[in-house]
Amino acid sequence: MAVNAPLARLIEQFRALPGIGQKTAARLAYHILDMSLDEAKSLSAAILNAKEKMGYCKVCFNLSDKSPCEICDSKKRDHSVICVVENPQDIAAMERMRDYKGVYHVLHGAVSPILGIDPEDLRIKELLIRLQETDVKEVIIATNPNLEGEATAMYIAKLIKPAGIKVTRIGSGLPVGSDLEYADEITLSRAMENRREI
Ligand SMILES: [Zn+2]
Repeated sequence: MAVNAPLARLIEQFRALPGIGQKTAARLAYHILDMSLDEAKSLSAAILNAKEKMGYCKVCFNLSDKSPCEICDSKKRDHSVICVVENPQDIAAMERMRDYKGVYHVLHGAVSPILGIDPEDLRIKELLIRLQETDVKEVIIATNPNLEGEATAMYIAKLIKPAGIKVTRIGSGLPVGSDLEYADEITLSRAMENRREI
């Protein structure tokens, strides 16, 4: 079945998004064409608005509509403990847990020789500068429990330890190969409690 050009273009745009296959892309595109014009306008306005308003915090590189972000700017948080995560989504997961009161640092990925991601591609340099400029007692490395996450954790630990800062890795409980972002609060809470010095 030949698809009209505007519809084909919409399907193609959805298809380019992560985790969306051909079938889902088509389903979303048809769903949007089924919406009223106002609903479609509101959806496209939300995309543009988020894109225009959100940026990266200059301190922790979390996604935020402010820089420094709310967490970095908060006096209620313990700025001497930094939890290092791969992605902004991981912060959302950690915050759902509610008992972490430190601050964060987002690497924006993990070291992966297969994908050609080198340490220089991550926000590691910025973390080191941050550690020089602030009095930090502990760095908790909460990268994903997979090969890339472990390699990244080891790499960072090696860089930080000579500075005499305590470096810990979140503990067991998280299934190997899983994504921090999808971990439930109890599992994550336990993994934080069971963190060990590396
Ligand atoms: Zn921040």
